[in-house]
This record gives sequence, C-alpha cells and structure tokens, in this order.
Amino acid sequence: MRPLAAAARKAGVQILLEHKMTAILREAPPSGRTLGVAADNKGQAVNIRARKAVIIATGGSTGNVNFRRMFDPRLTEEYCGLAGMPWSNQDSSGELAAMAIGASLWGLYNQTGEFGLSITKPGTIGSQFGYAYLRWMPGSPVFDRVRATGLRVADWQDLILVNMLGKRFYDETGGQFTANNHNSIEAYVQGSYRNTKNTKYNPNNFINAALAGIGDGHNGGGPIWAIFDADAVARERWDPNPPNVDIKAGFFFTADALSELAKKIKMQYQRVPMPPGNLEQTVARYNSFVDGGVDQDFGKPRPLHKIAKPPFYAAWATPVVHDTRAGLRINAKCQVIDVNGKVIEGLYCGGESAGGFSQHGLGRAVCQGYIAGRNAALDVLINPGAVSVPPSVSNKP
Ligand SMILES: Cc1cc2nc3c(=O)[nH]c(=O)nc-3n(C[C@H](O)[C@H](O)[C@H](O)COP(=O)(O)OP(=O)(O)OC[C@H]3O[C@@H](n4cnc5c(N)ncnc54)[C@H](O)[C@@H]3O)c2cc1C
Repeated sequence: MRPLAAAARKAGVQILLEHKMTAILREAPPSGRTLGVAADNKGQAVNIRARKAVIIATGGSTGNVNFRRMFDPRLTEEYCGLAGMPWSNQDSSGELAAMAIGASLWGLYNQTGEFGLSITKPGTIGSQFGYAYLRWMPGSPVFDRVRATGLRVADWQDLILVNMLGKRFYDETGGQFTANNHNSIEAYVQGSYRNTKNTKYNPNNFINAALAGIGDGHNGGGPIWAIFDADAVARERWDPNPPNVDIKAGFFFTADALSELAKKIKMQYQRVPMPPGNLEQTVARYNSFVDGGVDQDFGKPRPLHKIAKPPFYAAWATPVVHDTRAGLRINAKCQVIDVNGKVIEGLYCGGESAGGFSQHGLGRAVCQGYIAGRNAALDVLINPGAVSVPPSVSNKP
C-alpha cells in the first residue's frame, strides 16, 4: 500500500485520514448524479464534493451483524472474532450508504454458498480473535483491544469441541468449506462451462455443524468450546496463561473438575448455562471411544487421547467470519447499479464492498480498484452549475 499511497500523493491526491464516510450525496435520491460524500472527522461533520465521481472501497460488510444476517441468518453476534478485527471491522458503511441512495446488492449466494474462506475454523483458541493466519502479539498497537494471542492448535486430536450445552457436535479434525481458488478445480479449462463437472461439493465440514442451531430459540449455534486437560497442554506445549489466553473477558476457563469447569463458563455469548452433567457425560463417552478406538458418534479418525488429568480447560473455539463476497451490484466498468438495473451516475465500487465476483482477496480488490479508478477518471467533470448542488455540499474540489 505504501508505494500506491506515495504514487497517489505524487499525482496530487489529498488523503484524509480519520475521516469516516457517513453518507453518499446524490442530486435527487433515488435519481441524479453522485455529488460527493458526507464524512465525520472526530465528531466534526464535513461534506466533500466530488469533481468527477465517488468510488466506494470501504471493504466488506461481515462485521455488521444485522447486515450479514440478511445473507446468513445463522451468523448471530457470537461470531465476534472477524478476521482482521479489532484493527479492521468491516462495518458495511459503504454498502449502507449506497443502498440509501438506491443501489442494489448482488452476488448474495457467493456469501453463503459454502465455498471459500467466508467462514473459517479457528486456528487459535482461548482468545476472541482466532483467525488462523493472523496472530496479534503483545506490543501490537491494538493489543489492549485484542487482549490475548490465543493458543495455536497443532493437532485437533488433543481436544474435543463442545457446543454451548456441553455436547460434542462433530469430528474435531474435520475441515472447513472447500476453497474456490487456484487449482481447486482439476482440470480447469479457461472459459468452459464444463468446469462445473469437476467441482466437488463437500458438505462434511466443521462449519455447518458448529453453526447449526441448538434449540434455544436462536438461529446461531452459540459458542464452541475446546475442552482439554493438563496432558494436552503438555503435548501441545501451550502456556495457558495471559497474554496467551483471555481469562478476563471470558474466552478461557480452568477448573480442577469438569463439573466446575462447566459452571464457570459465563460470558456474554453463553446464552444458557452449560449443564455440568452434559460435559461430564460427553467427556466420559469420548474417553470410552479412546478405549475402544472408534468415535461412534462423529467418526473422528481413531480418537487418541483421553481427557482425564486435571486441571481441565475450556477455550473459545467458535468459527471465524472472514471474506465478504456479497456487496454492491456493479457492471464491468465498476459503476454501481441501482435496484432498477440502471447505472448510478458518478458512483463506482470495487473490492470487498462489491458483490458478484466470488474470489478471495487482494487480486479482486486491486483489479477492480484499477478498473473503477480508470473509469472514474474518464467520467464527466461535475459542473456545479449544471446540477443542483445541495447547499450543504462544498463546492471546493
Ligand atoms: C487477516 C487477513 C488476512 C488476509 N490475507 C490475505 C492474503 O494472504 N491474500 C489475499 O489476497 N487476501 C488476503 N486477505 C483479504 C484481503 O486483505 C481483502 O480481500 C482486501 O484487503 C480487500 O480490499 P478492499 O480494498 O476491498 O478493502 P479493505 O482492504 O478492507 O480496505 C477498506 C478501507 O476502507 C476503510 N473504510 C471502511 N469504511 C469506511 C468509511 N465509512 N469511511 C472511510 N473509510 C472507510 C477501512 O478503514 C479500510 O482502510 C486477508 C484479509 C484478512 C483480514
């Protein structure tokens, strides 16, 4: 990003930090040209007039619980460890601002189609933020908000996963949604509709089991807890203490007996108490599977380790919400389209705030940024005399 920012500054771009866009200004919503944006700068409202166009590049929407539940009602508030949080929250502000002036959403199935990294199995446990490929370390400028680094799981044989009610729900070594990126379709022929025949849908994933409702009147599956004992700590070489685990905010618990452990699990997302008897029975049954060499409930490949040596631990292991693949409808010029299928003049969008292009990551964002920027630069110069500019919109470029 640094070379891009340097190049932009060299070309005369003014970058306004700590300005949060709060609205998109349109001539006569839901019609007319896009005129600029309203922003908040540390409590001070400012309006910024576009000379040519506005490009929405605010990133994704999955940090906004109400917004993401439009696509997947299961994603209730307990999925609170968005990848990138707490540095970047993906609050859907770009999508909401564009929708308020008539924009349409698109590619909603891409969000819920159960492929790719839209939701991931946690890579670390015992901390709110368990995204596999991002670990916050003490010394990070946001560590006061992260609170704990988490314990990286090397072998899912070392623990069992239980739901809010203390019951196992799946094979802990199970995977997540299959990715739809390079080489995941073999053989791939560019442009051929026949590629579909090589797509392998994998319904046997951890994510669906974890998100399944548990009959307490809510859609979401509730917290998932990793349960393990002192022997597992030794095998994994974990240090189950702060700053590795988050005891203070309720993402990690310890007790000398399983029933005590279940009673201790109290935190904002544990909607109902975990019945101590459930946890005891779950562990006893699992230990019998270790003796017998077969997981009769979920088919975990030969369960290896009993959970028997105190102290016992319960560590937050709830799935992590990651990619946004649903967003604003755009055309091939990255112009935003309204709910009637018409171009909103002077409004562009790219990256995770755009919908309809189901690819993970920077490749999509950078390409669409280039396309949107190029077309916005070619757009007509807004002539304040030719359009009726609301008095609140500054005429300064
Ligand atoms: C932990 C993590 C690891 C990843 N690893 C990879 C990887 O290895 N490879 C890969 O290709 N992709 C990776 N990705 C995905 C990739 O980072 C994103 O797809 C990409 O950054 C999206 O780009 P974007 O420009 O759409 O949005 P973002 O990069 O999210 O940028 C949006 C910007 O808009 C700002 N913003 C939001 N709302 C407002 C507002 N209202 N007003 C003003 N500014 C606002 C935000 O602060 C942010 O700076 C990763 C993502 C995460 C979170």
